[in-house]
Amino acid sequence: MENKSVFEMILSGDIESDIIYEDNQIFAIHDINPVAKVHILIIPKKKIATINDLTKEDESLIGSMFLCAKDLAKKFDIDQSGYRLLFNTNADAMQTVFHIHLHLIGGEKLKNI
Ligand code: 5GP
Repeated sequence: MENKSVFEMILSGDIESDIIYEDNQIFAIHDINPVAKVHILIIPKKKIATINDLTKEDESLIGSMFLCAKDLAKKFDIDQSGYRLLFNTNADAMQTVFHIHLHLIGGEKLKNI
């Protein structure tokens, strides 16, 4: 059997992490190594290694991740001040966990990318 991703281990309780949002398709946690005051990861329960592996059947899942990000931005009071949403994909983008996750980053002035 393929190794579990760190996010699957969090979901199963093998690694401790506060789950700040969960539904039947996705969950969200605070990043262990935040790059800004707010740094949340929105993660599908289904393991998809990279954005390159998405299929048509994942269309609504990806939409749900963005709607969750929007709701969490409001919950953490950064919806008006501003935030960044991003997926890293493969080596040049420095993807380290091969189970897709949407970064929600804000709470302070971010550097230009
Ligand atoms: P990537 O570099 O793949 O886009 O992002 C992976 C993110 O997962 C990194 O920002 C990293 O800090 C975070 N991360 C890795 N392991 C853990 C963990 O065990 N707990 C939490 N909460 N975040 C993690």
